[in-house]
Formats: sequence, C-alpha cells, structure tokens
Amino acid sequence: APRLVRRALISVSDKTDLIPFARFLADRKVEILSTGGSAKAIAAAGIPVKEVSDHTGFPEIMDGRVKTLHPTIHGGILARRDLDHHVTAQRDHGIADIDLVVVNLYPFEATVAKGADRETCIENIDIGGPAMIRAAAKNHDFVVVVTDPADYAPVMAEMAALGGATSLGLRRRLALDAYSRTAAYDAAISAWMAEQEQQAFPSRLTLAGQRRDTLRYGENPHQAAAFYATAERRPGIATAVQLQGKELSYNNLNDTDAAYELVAEFAQPAIAIIKHANPCGVAMDDDLATAYRRAFACDTVSAFGGIIAVNRALDAATAELISQVFSEVIIAPKVSDEARAVLAKKKNLRVLEAGSLPDPMAHGLAIKTLAGGFLAQSRDNGRIDEAALKVVSKRVPSVRELADMLFAMAVAKHVKSNAIIYAKDGATVGIGAGQMSRVDSSRIAAWKAAEAAKAAGAAESWAKGSVVASDAFFPFADGLLAAAEAGATAVIQPGGSMRDEEVIAAADQAGLAMVFTGMRHFRH
Ligand code: 5GP
Repeated sequence: APRLVRRALISVSDKTDLIPFARFLADRKVEILSTGGSAKAIAAAGIPVKEVSDHTGFPEIMDGRVKTLHPTIHGGILARRDLDHHVTAQRDHGIADIDLVVVNLYPFEATVAKGADRETCIENIDIGGPAMIRAAAKNHDFVVVVTDPADYAPVMAEMAALGGATSLGLRRRLALDAYSRTAAYDAAISAWMAEQEQQAFPSRLTLAGQRRDTLRYGENPHQAAAFYATAERRPGIATAVQLQGKELSYNNLNDTDAAYELVAEFAQPAIAIIKHANPCGVAMDDDLATAYRRAFACDTVSAFGGIIAVNRALDAATAELISQVFSEVIIAPKVSDEARAVLAKKKNLRVLEAGSLPDPMAHGLAIKTLAGGFLAQSRDNGRIDEAALKVVSKRVPSVRELADMLFAMAVAKHVKSNAIIYAKDGATVGIGAGQMSRVDSSRIAAWKAAEAAKAAGAAESWAKGSVVASDAFFPFADGLLAAAEAGATAVIQPGGSMRDEEVIAAADQAGLAMVFTGMRHFRH
C-alpha cells in the first residue's frame, strides 16, 4: 500500500543532486533530519533541517564514528506501524517515525583506489550508514530507502504522483538495491583486508559485486544476464569505457575479456583475434599493423565477426586494416583520435578503451558455477621462467625456436584445453582448441596451418619450420609425431607424463628439440 513520507533522515557522503531533492521534500512539508556535513549543506541552501543530535539529544562523538547509532533513530526506522506494542514502545520512549532514509556510504572503495594509507582506509569504513540502510530496507513495508542519487528522481516522481506517498513496489525495489549495495560494500572491505594480509586467495570468499549493466540476454536469447563488477578492481574489461558501437552482449563481454587478457601477455606490440573465447590468430611484431596482418592470416575464415584486442594505443593505420573485415568489438588501452575517426565510420562496431593493460601476473579470482555451488580458484597467473626450462631432447633449441616456444605457450594458456599451438616468428600459424583428445587438437592445428598456407598461396604448410606448444603433457608420442609430421622443429610442453621417456625418444628420433616447463596451463 502507498505510505506517506512525513519525516526523512538524510546522511550522505556523496552530495550529488542532494539540494533539489531536499528542497522537494521540504516543499512537501517533510521534516528533514540530517547529520553534520549533510545538514550543513542543506541549511546552506536555505532549506529547513534538524540536526540528528538535536533530534536524539545525543551529540555526534568520536570524530563521527557514532552519529546516528541511537535507539531514537533505529527505533524510528524499524518500528512496524501496524503493531500496537511497537507503537506503544515508540510513545513510551519518544521515538518518532522515520519514513524515508537517504544514505550513501563513506567512499571506502574510492579511498582504496586512490592508494590511501591503512588508517585512512579504516576510517572510511562506514558503520552507522549500513546500519540505517539495512534497517530501512528490512522495514520496507513502511520505509523507503535510497542509496543512490540516481534514485532521487523516481522517488520524487512517485511522491508527486501519489500525493507525497510511495508505492510498495518502489520500496521493494529500493530495498533490494540497498542490500546489494551493503553486500558489495562489505565485500570490498573484506577483499581489501585479504590484500593487506597478502592473501593471494581469500580463505573466506566474498563474492558480492555491483551490478554494472543489465544485459539484453545471456549466452542465448532465452537466458537473462547482467554484468557485475566485483571488489577486485583489476584493470581490463570491467574498467573499460565504450567509445562507440552497439550495446555489448554477454558473449561480447566474455570474448573481449579473453582477448584482452591474452594480448596483455606480450611486451612487444601484439594483437589477438578471438572467436568463442578462443584465439583464431595471435601475433606480435614491431608494429600493430604488421601484427594484425599476421594474426589475421592465421585463420582468415574464422576471423570474420571476431573480437580484436591490442596491447598498444590503436593507431589509424591499424584501424584502417581492421575496418576492412567485419568485427564485433575492438579493445585497446588507448585509441588515438585518428583511429577513432577511422572507426567512427563503422557505426555498429563496439570500440572499448580500457585505460591500462591487465597484469598477467596479478592475483585474482576465477569462478565457475556448478549445480548448487561454485568452484573458486586463483586465476592462472603463472608465467614460465626461461631459466627453469629443461631441455630434454638431444638437440638444443635455437634462440629463435626458444622465443617462439615461449610465445606459443603464452598463447596456449589462453586456449581451451586440449590446446595445441603452432607458432613461427612471433605469430600463431595453427591453433587446435577444445578437443577431448590431445592428438585430435594436434591434427586440427596442423590441418589449419596447412589451410592457412593454402589460402595465402604458399607452397608448403605454415607448420613447416614452426614450433609447437601443448598446454599439458603429451600422454603418448602420437600427438608429438603428428606435429613432427606437419613440419614442426621444436616442442614445448610441461612434461610429467608416465611415458615421458617414450615421448622424449620419439622427439629425438624425429630430430625435434624439446623443452619441459614443469607448468601446466589447463583452461576448461
Ligand atoms: P555527513 O557528511 O552528513 O557528516 O556524514 C554522512 C556520512 O556519515 C554518510 O556516508 C553516512 O553513511 C555516515 N554515517 C551516518 N551515521 C553514522 C554513524 O553513526 N557512524 C558512522 N561511522 N558513519 C555514519
């Protein structure tokens, strides 16, 4: 049922749009109670306001740590107006109804993001604010709670339409938002504390996130979906700004994340083209345009409708090249003005500017849902240490082979298992992804290398003279032999199979150089 708003409590750190809202309330004869800074701002605008301390008869103490934590306030918010003994308690203790609670919290997340010291972060943990928000949200049968200045407008619109009252529907919606806000707030605090303790993986996981966008649908049109930003605040897809193009879909976001995380692995200018979260081509070179040409050549058929990530500011020449093929999304740390002008001609193309690159070595959380639960693990931030590589073959790899092997393994880390990657001169030439057997992935990768060469009019398969990376050990010699047959000259793999001896012997027989990394990169 609609409930009239007669008394409001306003306590806000973010004072955006506060004054017009307070004026609207005062004009409707709503009594405004408020805390120190908020009360000052409201009074300065000439709007009548009563200090909370005057209302409770108890001063703000301990530098504001205790402002609103008082039974007169919490009783006024929590009282059920339809229960006699609640109303009696109010009368006995002089507790007036509070019908509207407008609170936004101390900016804890922003304080952490600014790199403030520990003491400042601690002082920015709001206590009274969440208590009032949670109380008001609990009592939403009678009380409206507003935690976001963006909700001032809908509240005003409804009060104007309902003679100063709000509907149960609006109160419920705002209560839900309120709890999701306090949950995310506590998650941010706990994530920060875990970081302070240098815990790479929080032993107590707080997963709440802030809804960033409601998406049109999920992986398929009959699935609902939303994009949540967690307390992690890792640079990447969640920090990117969309410069142009159609709305991002669930699949766009998923693929763009995969693309950007991959391209961040490389120090040289690099580009990745992604389809269904797997790369169809990755290359690094002296400049982005050349890298793009080479990445595209790896699989010109699959690249159509792809997602493109670059690890340097996108320049006009590369933007021109990219525009010649239909793509869904481009993500870059920066997009030059000239490149923007080029891409603007492709109205639907989504262009994202991320500001900075993800750090492949950074800690982070990876989540996968199961029926009735979820799996959590630290993200795969493993990087192969060149010094720890073990040459197991008779032939020692050349410097060029070694560089390509490390490149191919960095790509393999971002390809769904079983992953087999052929690479040559800093570019992939054949990618086998997501097969149930390693030998199938090997064959597919070799076949794709031959197809790409054919498409480019080359006389022999691009696998010829390439190196091959495998995300996990070869359980049998067959996958390795498929690579040798295709023309690869060197192999990089974790090693550790029961049959390593057999696989090493096969490599030696085929004249392959082979190194073991000791680090598996499954990705499912
Ligand atoms: P103001 O600028 O009005 O002085 O302070 C507003 C902020 O104080 C709001 O962010 C609100 O959540 C917070 N706040 C309100 N009551 C309390 C309290 O009792 N303790 C603490 N720590 N914060 C409070």
